[in-house]
Amino acid sequence: SRKALIAANWKMNGSAALVKEMTNTLQSLAISAVDVLLCPPATLLTRFAPSSQFALGAQTLSHETSGAFTGELSAQLLSEAGARFVIVGHSERRSLNFETDGLVAAKLATAVAAGLTPLLCVGESLAERQQEKTQQVIARQLDAVYASQPELLAKSVIAYEPIWAIGTGESASPEQAQQTHAFIRAHLAQYDATAAAAVRILYGGSVNAENCAALFAQADIDGALVGGASLKPAEFAQICLAAT
Ligand code: 13P
Repeated sequence: SRKALIAANWKMNGSAALVKEMTNTLQSLAISAVDVLLCPPATLLTRFAPSSQFALGAQTLSHETSGAFTGELSAQLLSEAGARFVIVGHSERRSLNFETDGLVAAKLATAVAAGLTPLLCVGESLAERQQEKTQQVIARQLDAVYASQPELLAKSVIAYEPIWAIGTGESASPEQAQQTHAFIRAHLAQYDATAAAAVRILYGGSVNAENCAALFAQADIDGALVGGASLKPAEFAQICLAAT
């Protein structure tokens, strides 16, 4: 009953040429059984013509709404540029840009207040998995956002991205991912059981055209957040089709 969502995270990649190529590919695909989301660098958002085939999202936002914050982008600015979604708390921003759990929670609230749908990323490092701390880490990341603002769950999308699987070519196995997705859904049920049953939980980390179908076959995997493979229109299209 949850409609699949396939999201592309271009990270700091792409070009005006890729905007055109991806648009053409998705227009000709014409799928309605799956929601498709493209998150290009913010400067490319306005290069997309409005399309019924996909929505647009940003990769981060400021937790502030306006003011003297040089280089930052507000939810309102991103919305005006065409974004309907925004990725919040990606592991690269948590580690490379020192985003704390508290900042991630503030960003998610700011996004919802401005009418953007946040895509909250959670996931453990390799060391944390080896120490069997996966559930503990993810519970902390979820609690930081939803314990004090449980009403935001109904407006969110969650992405489980094990850090050890990002950009490594080593995806989590379907069983490993399903186990964590089921944990996430059960943990979220304590805040809002209805919203937890309805929330889309995407898997991210080395998703490609070959491994996606087995992931999508899992009960609690509702789509994917795709990095590297989302820069190849034909392969991204295949991943979207596999979710139908
Ligand atoms: P890859 O698909 O390149 O592993 O990246 C996953 C990711 O971080 C998406 O947000």
